[in-house]
Amino acid sequence: MRLKKAAEQESLPSVMDLPVGGMTYAQCPALWTFFQGRTLASERMPIKVFDRSGTSHRYESGGLNGIERVDEFHRMELVKLGAREQTVEAAGALAEYFKRLFEESDEWLEFQNLSINGTTYPKGFTVKLQSGEPLWSGCSGIGLERWTAVFIAQKGPDPSKWPKAMRELYGETPRGIRFL
Ligand SMILES: [Zn+2]
Repeated sequence: MRLKKAAEQESLPSVMDLPVGGMTYAQCPALWTFFQGRTLASERMPIKVFDRSGTSHRYESGGLNGIERVDEFHRMELVKLGAREQTVEAAGALAEYFKRLFEESDEWLEFQNLSINGTTYPKGFTVKLQSGEPLWSGCSGIGLERWTAVFIAQKGPDPSKWPKAMRELYGETPRGIRFL
């Protein structure tokens, strides 16, 4: 390749290693590797984790279009672990917070999950509870890009029409690139 100044695609596999990892497609799998193979002390349950350690990646096909369709998003994930009742209760409390936050909005757009995943992740990553009860988990994945898309869909792209609190946070629109 160095000599010919061209990459022959057929010969690439012979000089490459096999993949040893991948980019996470969803929110919480990145966090579960931290707990993998461990047993959690019952007296510290429930555990609530706020993770914004990186990005998640997926090619979103289907019904999504425009700026709401993303291939990479900045992950913010709220994960709850505990016994069954603790996980269900934490999800209920979070649902109340979300209602308070979003019901002021007069239009609805779906943009966020709130899931009770049961034993799926603890089983998949072999994470146990000291008491011997099944460990449950729940999560809510926040995509900042998705929130932005929903906000702009409802309020429009012109900052002068946004609510005052948002205008103050946003500040001035930077000057864009101009081509001649
Ligand atoms: Zn999740």
